[in-house]
Amino acid sequence: MEAIKINSRATDLKYVVNAFFESGTLSCFTCNTCTVECPVNKTVGKLDPRKIVRMAAFGMREELLGSVDIWLCMQCNKCSNICPQRVQPAAAIYYFRNLAVKDGFVSEQFSEINVEIDEYFQKLRGALYASALALAKEGKEIDVDKLVRETVETSKDVADIPYEAGETTVKVEKLLFGEFSETRFVQCLTCRECSVSCIVSRAIRGFDPVKIMRSYYLGIVDDMLASPDLWLCISCETCSEVCRQGVKGNVLISRLKNQAVEKGIIPPDAVESLAEIDGALHEIRFEVISNAWNRRKEIEEFDLRAAVKDALAG
Ligand code: SF4
Ligand code: SF4
Ligand code: SF4
Ligand code: SF4
Repeated sequence: MEAIKINSRATDLKYVVNAFFESGTLSCFTCNTCTVECPVNKTVGKLDPRKIVRMAAFGMREELLGSVDIWLCMQCNKCSNICPQRVQPAAAIYYFRNLAVKDGFVSEQFSEINVEIDEYFQKLRGALYASALALAKEGKEIDVDKLVRETVETSKDVADIPYEAGETTVKVEKLLFGEFSETRFVQCLTCRECSVSCIVSRAIRGFDPVKIMRSYYLGIVDDMLASPDLWLCISCETCSEVCRQGVKGNVLISRLKNQAVEKGIIPPDAVESLAEIDGALHEIRFEVISNAWNRRKEIEEFDLRAAVKDALAG
């Protein structure tokens, strides 16, 4: 990532950001937690929310609105959820995107294409995880590169598979007062606030944090542990942040992931392959967004599948 260069074009954007969106960019003490935890930065190192926050604080309007960086964000909210200063980098980025359209830095069409790209990559990820875990359970090797290419060709979506309550059902009393009761999953009122706030749930029909929590509550454990659902969670913590009942959805999911591995339901090698899939997808997504970005002002039509195939070929 390039260094920030402060020049005479710096404006008073900092006041705009703080006044209208309360994103608190001036409170940032540059701890870097947001950048370390950002899933895009973790996998491809091409997005730095701290840098964006600092540029906003310096009032670097032109540079921010004219940068592809604000379009690389998935709007998962992880940066905002973990910031010790309660800065809201995700909200600031969202605001900059709207300003970039309004001020003609990108076309409205480009902004819509960006949303389409994110939804497509989540769906693709869902399909890839389902295929990879199915292969792992059969004891077959996972060739990530081959799997990505084949899945792009077949355009499969992850299926919405209900968990069966049968022999796998665990005694409910054991769960309610057992090892994960501190995540307060019992208090879930099924309001679905977490589902509508979760970027994965919004894109992938088969994924829903409430489904996981309710299944655990009902003692339907082993089938849920064996499904791709747990692994699709990106641990952004948004579900826990928005829950008015104090349920810690991301903590429960993270513990269930560990349990799936400890019980031998998901082989550790498969978990590594899932991380590899994420890395590959973020690289392709970066290429696809850059491709659209190069035509950001005049773009009218964008063939997403062709762009994905071009990125794979490159
Ligand atoms: S986590 Fe918050 S305080 Fe730390 S660098 Fe990011 S925005 Fe700044
Ligand atoms: S919202 Fe998510 S993807 Fe965007 S900068 Fe924050 S952590 Fe990164
Ligand atoms: S937001 Fe909380 S109470 Fe509502 S469905 Fe999610 S976990 Fe349950
Ligand atoms: S279920 Fe996972 S991905 Fe969805 S909001 Fe919760 S932590 Fe984020």
